[in-house]
Amino acid sequence: MAVAEFDLIRRYFAERTPRNEAVRLGIGDDCALLAGGAGDEWAVTVDAMVEGVHFLADGDPADLGHKCLAVNLSDLAAMGARPAAVTLALTMPRSDERWLEAFAGGFFALAERYGVELAGGDTTRGAAVVISVQAMGRLPAGQALRRDGAKPGDGIYLTGRLGDAGLGLKIATGAWPAVSEEAVRRLHRPEPRVAMGLALPGLAHACIDVSDGLAADLGHILSASGVGATLDWERLPLSAAVEGYVAATGDWRFPLGCGDDYELCFTAPGDSADVLARVADAGCSCVCIGRVEAAPGLRLRRQAGVEMLGESGYRHF
Ligand code: ADP
Ligand code: MG
Repeated sequence: MAVAEFDLIRRYFAERTPRNEAVRLGIGDDCALLAGGAGDEWAVTVDAMVEGVHFLADGDPADLGHKCLAVNLSDLAAMGARPAAVTLALTMPRSDERWLEAFAGGFFALAERYGVELAGGDTTRGAAVVISVQAMGRLPAGQALRRDGAKPGDGIYLTGRLGDAGLGLKIATGAWPAVSEEAVRRLHRPEPRVAMGLALPGLAHACIDVSDGLAADLGHILSASGVGATLDWERLPLSAAVEGYVAATGDWRFPLGCGDDYELCFTAPGDSADVLARVADAGCSCVCIGRVEAAPGLRLRRQAGVEMLGESGYRHF
């Protein structure tokens, strides 16, 4: 059933949001107001998800609600910021109550886990569903994990596993016959590495979230930092499903080039056992996959040889 705009905003969003102390004025006025906070900085990011580009028209709205928030919390984690508030701009062809109920369910289940307040937004009619979430997180001034701090000798670390979401997309679209519920779940329900992001200031030199493929995203750290790196194939964290795909197709570049992983990749100085011990309580696995070097370019040590990795990530244009 169709529901009117302001009822929709109240029922599906305003009444459901958790509160966060950083939000002094939330949904209902022309703007939200956020607390100032001396000595703090705000990290701000926005990501849009477009029907037909990021998801299919028949995509599960609960998954979309989760994912549109998760990808933004992942960006905050990559800066080392603590999530506080988000705004939501929602465009859709009609106000479908069942869709909204499921969407809000997925969205707020994740928002509750991190105490993120939905502080405002916009609701409009349009030809296709477009979901834009803007996220704001706080961190102590000067502590942000930027892309330009990697130094030769740093270890390169990666959370979680590589390539599951990319394989999940192939499985979900019928392009690969294997069954892996875990891979498909990783595509639809990425887990933002919030606790890991909060553990990294003071430890990591540089950090990025892997959304467009490891080769491309680590490449951003390397070019911003004016360095290069060599990764070890044997140390890449791959699931049995992804290993099976690589073995069957010979396409070893796949897990390095496919998108939607939403894992954190960071560089840190010092002994890798010490670094890994300091992030052991951050709620997800983390491994050292290579080392930063002075010579530019991204290399991969594999089967006694060294391959050059081009930038093979997803590009919209
Ligand atoms: P304005 O015309 O002043 O921009 P709107 O009529 O667009 O205000 O929205 C009314 C209030 O509801 C505002 O506080 C706005 O931030 C909020 N809002 C609108 N759409 C959403 C949404 N999808 N999620 C959360 N808040 C929303
Ligand atoms: Mg408005």
